Amino acid sequence: MLLLLPLACSGPGTRDSATEATRPTPLILISIDGFRAEFLDRGLTPTLNALADSGVRARYMRPSFPTLTFPNHYALITGLRPDRNGIVANIMEDGQIPDQRFAASNRQAIENARWWNDATPLWITAKRAGLHSGIMFWPGSEAPVQGSHPDFWSRYDEELEAVTRVDNVLGWLTLPIDQRPSLMTLYLDTIDKTGHHFGPDSVELNAELRIVDAMVRRLVDGLIERGLEHAVNLVIVSDHGMVATSPERVVILDEILPGEAARTISYGVLTGIAPNPGQTHKVEAILLGKHDHMQCWKKSELPARFHYGTHRRVPPILCLANHGWIIASRTWLARKDHFSLGEHGYDNDDPDMRAIFIAHGPAFRSGVVLPPFDNVDVYPLLAYLLGLKAEPNDGNFDMLGGALEPIGVARTNRH
Ligand code: AMP
Ligand code: ZN
Ligand code: ZN
Repeated sequence: MLLLLPLACSGPGTRDSATEATRPTPLILISIDGFRAEFLDRGLTPTLNALADSGVRARYMRPSFPTLTFPNHYALITGLRPDRNGIVANIMEDGQIPDQRFAASNRQAIENARWWNDATPLWITAKRAGLHSGIMFWPGSEAPVQGSHPDFWSRYDEELEAVTRVDNVLGWLTLPIDQRPSLMTLYLDTIDKTGHHFGPDSVELNAELRIVDAMVRRLVDGLIERGLEHAVNLVIVSDHGMVATSPERVVILDEILPGEAARTISYGVLTGIAPNPGQTHKVEAILLGKHDHMQCWKKSELPARFHYGTHRRVPPILCLANHGWIIASRTWLARKDHFSLGEHGYDNDDPDMRAIFIAHGPAFRSGVVLPPFDNVDVYPLLAYLLGLKAEPNDGNFDMLGGALEPIGVARTNRH
């Protein structure tokens, strides 16, 4: 069931005399999970391509490492890379939260702010400045991060149709001005799900590309119907791409590492390993270095370009599968009822991990193609668009400065 929870709209920091003039142009941040940059070149997404052509697009956007959903969504909305935002993986353990394992399927963990409190999502900064937020799903929004939720949020429900998600966002735009969100998100998950199930080059994935494009069309049409097409800024991103995988390309870890030597935190593309007491030397001797289809490092010795490995939640040893490979155990494989034909989590410099960035609206110039940038660079842009002071972050605003209309045009409401 959809929960739309309007929380109190009054309190410290609230702009009590809200008028159109005192509010920034509403911003809708759309995340299309698993939308690889190359998918835009398939001729299947006319709406996205038209928005890119008449607005701004990046040649591609580099995801943060590891190229997984939770770490990257939190990086986008906080401007901090996973090693600093605390969401270092989709599955995590933390000695300071001893009785809980973080996983997308563990609702208690997802809603426990302790996992998220290392960073400040933009909706919290907006709230402190008296702006409202409407979050149509985003990792982190279900927990009272630093004490509060966004004004409107929903418990993640994968069954909730994309059309309903779009219509909920459109509904927020016509709320009375004193309740209307300035920051909205829209999260679409079907490309990731289909990419995993059938692979990134499947007919099924191509069919889903048309459908997700139609959802963006529905949003744009909804804006036009409401006379808002020049009064809303759209920023469309993805969190990572997708690589084709195969049952022929599996590293069986338990054939290399004896089970009693270490505990595996999670299998998949990036596997975290914690040696059992007294076993560290043995585990390191077996694992560290290059293997035929993966490479393993101590967390302190990861390549610097990953910007990863200092957070206490990062396991002591990490093994990263080569392009198109995955790391598994025999029992983990046997428990799966379907072998995923697409995966992500690879090196964030892998071309198939590249994400998209498209921006359109009164703040943005037309026909601009930006050189590649890191996804943490988006956060200072989002803060700027809302007239908010960005929290300390890993992003570089200058990377996206070329996207904007000259100052003065960018942040005024134009109806
Ligand atoms: P992954 O492909 O493992 O990186 O994770 C992607 C999946 O995470 C999506 O297909 C969603 O089902 C799930 N997901 C996304 N957002 C949330 C959320 N807020 N709470 C729980 N699960 C989520
Ligand atoms: Zn994802
Ligand atoms: Zn995924």
